Amino acid sequence: MDVSESTQPPLVIRTPNRDFACGLHVIPHGRSGLYVGATNRFITVPDAGPTAGEHLSLVHGLLHQFRVDLRTTAVKDLRWGYRPASSDGAPLIGTCGLPGLLLATGTYRNGILMAPAVAAIITAALLDRPTPLCNPYQPTARPDRTQRGFRQLLAEDAAHMTSVFLDPDGALPYDRERQLSTTLANLLDLALASHQDVGLHREQLRAQLAAHPTVEGVCRVFDTWET
Ligand SMILES: Cc1cc2nc3c(=O)[nH]c(=O)nc-3n(C[C@H](O)[C@H](O)[C@H](O)COP(=O)(O)OP(=O)(O)OC[C@H]3O[C@@H](n4cnc5c(N)ncnc54)[C@H](O)[C@@H]3O)c2cc1C
Repeated sequence: MDVSESTQPPLVIRTPNRDFACGLHVIPHGRSGLYVGATNRFITVPDAGPTAGEHLSLVHGLLHQFRVDLRTTAVKDLRWGYRPASSDGAPLIGTCGLPGLLLATGTYRNGILMAPAVAAIITAALLDRPTPLCNPYQPTARPDRTQRGFRQLLAEDAAHMTSVFLDPDGALPYDRERQLSTTLANLLDLALASHQDVGLHREQLRAQLAAHPTVEGVCRVFDTWET
C-alpha cells in the first residue's frame, strides 16, 4: 500500500493468535510502502491465486483493526505465494530414495528463515561433501515425530475452524465460541473416529431423537455434542 513514511507505523504489528497461526500483520516497507498480510489456505493442487473472500478478510482486518484512515490509500501491489508443506509437517531437505534427486521443500512458514541452512545442506550434497549442519529433515532418515493424539488434533483444528467462521468480526456472545468449537470437535470425532464407542454413541443419539422427533429433540442432541 502507498503510505508515506511519516504516517507508517514505527514497528511491525502482528496478531499471532489468528486461526492457523497466520496472524494479521502490517509491516513498514520502504519509503512509502506498507505491507499487509496474510491469509492461509491449504490446497493440494496449484490454483489461480487469492480469492475475493481472502482479499475481503485482509482489507476488513486492516481497516477495522488497524487503521480506518487507510481506507483511502491505494493498493499498489498484490503478492501471493506457496508455503510448501509435507504430510507430517516437517521440511524435506536432502537426498531421497531416487538417486540423483535432491529435495529442498516442505518449509511451510519458514522457507526464508531456513534458506541459508537449506542452501548449505544442498550445496554439500551436490558437491558430495559431508553435511556441514545437523539435518533433522533428511527425507530418507526421518526421526519418529511425536504425533499428537487424534482427539487432540481434532479439538485444535475445531478451534481454528471456529475462528475462521467468526471472521470478519470475530465475536459471538457468552461462551458460544467454545460451544461451537466443542460441538465441531465432537462431530469430527463422530465422523472420523473408528473406536467402538462411536457406534454405540450414534445408536444412543438415534434413540434419543426417535423418542423426541421434534426441533427440541434435535436441540438435545446438540447439547450432547456441545458437552
Ligand atoms: C505470504 C507468505 C509469507 C511468508 N512469510 C515467511 C516469513 O516471514 N518467513 C519465512 O521464513 N518464510 C515465509 N514464507 C514461506 C516461504 O516463502 C516458503 O517456505 C518458501 O518460499 C518455499 O521455498 P521453495 O523454494 O520451496 O518454493 P518457492 O519459493 O515457491 O519457489 C519455487 C519456485 O519454482 C518456480 N517454479 C514452479 N514451477 C516451475 C516450473 N514448472 N518450472 C520452473 N520453475 C517453476 C516458481 O516460480 C518459484 O520461483 C511465506 C510465504 C508466504 C506465501
